[in-house]
Amino acid sequence: MMPWLTGRFGNPSGSHAVARAARTVIEDARDQVAGLLGGQPREIVFTGGGTEAINLAIGGTALANQPGTIITSAVEHDAVREAAAARVAFGEVHAVASVDHNGVLDLPQLTELLNKHVRIVAVMAVNNEVGSIQPIAEVIALARTHTNGALVLVDAVQGAVWLDVATHCASADLLVISGHKFGGPQGVGALLVKEGTRIGPILHGGGQERERRSGTQNVAGIVGLAAALQAAHDDRAALVSRVTPLRDRLVDGLLNAIPEASETSERHTKVAGNAHICVAGVESESLLVLLDDGGICASAGSACASGAIHTSPVLQAMGVGADRAEGALRMTLGATTTSDDVDRALSVVPVAVDRLRRSPV
Ligand code: PLP
Repeated sequence: MMPWLTGRFGNPSGSHAVARAARTVIEDARDQVAGLLGGQPREIVFTGGGTEAINLAIGGTALANQPGTIITSAVEHDAVREAAAARVAFGEVHAVASVDHNGVLDLPQLTELLNKHVRIVAVMAVNNEVGSIQPIAEVIALARTHTNGALVLVDAVQGAVWLDVATHCASADLLVISGHKFGGPQGVGALLVKEGTRIGPILHGGGQERERRSGTQNVAGIVGLAAALQAAHDDRAALVSRVTPLRDRLVDGLLNAIPEASETSERHTKVAGNAHICVAGVESESLLVLLDDGGICASAGSACASGAIHTSPVLQAMGVGADRAEGALRMTLGATTTSDDVDRALSVVPVAVDRLRRSPV
């Protein structure tokens, strides 16, 4: 990324040499990203992140297709949930497909929702809170069988590190990734729009990205996104085999050391980097403050832009009671997590819980 951040500021739409060089690296990145996602370069639209790509997928296809029903799973990220809800003002219907106690889509219930009025089905590859892996191939097969050509949108923002998206999400009509979830820069993402999918622009202007996303491209960001996606792909098997035992040691250690703590969902349903427990008798918000003091970066249900924690709709959808959900603790492991980090978490978290239980804030 450095040449494009430190002096080579050519506008990729220009015609002089520096501009052409910028255009070339964007097209190289497009080829690379398309190959890694199992698509064609002309199907890739670079965006300003996952949220924008999701809004383009839901709102842009609305511009070019008859209105209908948008089905989202009950555990989608706010970007999908809110983009779908926003379409109701334009006469579309938003239906929600439920999940089981592991946060995995309930396929029979989804089937009941499918009919000829469904315009788009949006399901994430991997959930951002509990790490559940969704059965994307089955969702696509059901949508093809039980609807009149409904599009399938896969939010693969959390999946790209842990899964081979090209295989797991094969033949999705719309597929979203975001750079900062696999070691790339923030504020850059991509939407794969399968050839033949009708979609209009939600950003109007200079007509970049084949008229699908106007605005001068983020050259350094796109170069970084492609390089990071390649690295994530190349390192995936090693990452999963290194992180799985670390995660297991962390969760088992916490459950052993903290009375009345429970694992939120079954481990075999989730990706290797996700550790999620519920701690009875403490409030996540207070626990996170103590953990932060102890140098542990953890999370609860989900945090909105203000940083305020609200009861997680994901845990609610999984049927986790309010008493358990109140003490939700999510710790994510990844490429930079070491065994020492796990040791540290195992020494800090139980002490913090104990302290809160003795004198709740
Ligand atoms: N989808 C999921 C599952 C996410 O976890 C996130 C971000 O955390 C997004 C979408 C939004 O992506 P971005 O932050 O790039 O807008």
